Amino acid sequence: MIYFFLVILGAAFGSFFNVCIYRIPRKESIIFPGSHCPQCNKKIKPADNIPILSYLLLKGKCRNCGFKIPIQYLLVELLTPILFILLYVSTGSSINPVFIKYIIFISAGMIIFFIDFNQQIIPDVISLPLVIIGISVSFLPSIDITWKSALSGAVFSFVVFLATAYIFKLFTGRESLGGGDIKLMTAIGSFIGIIGTIFTIFFSSAIALIILIVKGHDRRKEFPFGPFLIFGAFLYILAGRFLTEIYLSLFRI
Ligand SMILES: [Zn+2]
Repeated sequence: MIYFFLVILGAAFGSFFNVCIYRIPRKESIIFPGSHCPQCNKKIKPADNIPILSYLLLKGKCRNCGFKIPIQYLLVELLTPILFILLYVSTGSSINPVFIKYIIFISAGMIIFFIDFNQQIIPDVISLPLVIIGISVSFLPSIDITWKSALSGAVFSFVVFLATAYIFKLFTGRESLGGGDIKLMTAIGSFIGIIGTIFTIFFSSAIALIILIVKGHDRRKEFPFGPFLIFGAFLYILAGRFLTEIYLSLFRI
């Protein structure tokens, strides 16, 4: 029953994230007007606005003009319930403060992931409140990290990313980490604490580096680093303990 609830909740949240992903970078209101087709502007009827199902029934097209709705919409609506279920299981299979804390983080993370992926920007309206929320909730009882860990995660992230950006600019004259990345990593640090921060920076950089080497990189294009940071943080939240144990077991005989 709870899993059914999480699927519905996740799909509904995912549907809302799609609105945010589209509208926040365009500085449009996320509440008014209601959903409409980006091509013909026709209002989407509630019956055609059911997460996942409507996309499949309409074969990813606007009922009015046939505009092909990006597959990303379906992906977000499918991925969110999966993440919610994994989170539920990894936070002790109950609706507890830690679960709710990371629902907030995963929600913001999903929105930032796709905005940065599509448009190479990380909106301050999401990342800055996250820093404040992350540090504030660490003072609550029965939360997963101490306020010292949250604060040091945030400060460490900020200092390391700022220094990296500065040093890179000094030696190459080019931008590497943008201000958006610095603020996002600070937010991540405040949520997952110092150990998670080190895990995320290490893991995200390694994956980004591998992709840059394998795929090559067009220097004229901006390379969004935010999605890697969010992926690393999600992995730490959902499977951090498991992965740390595997890593440590490699050194045990
Ligand atoms: Zn249309």
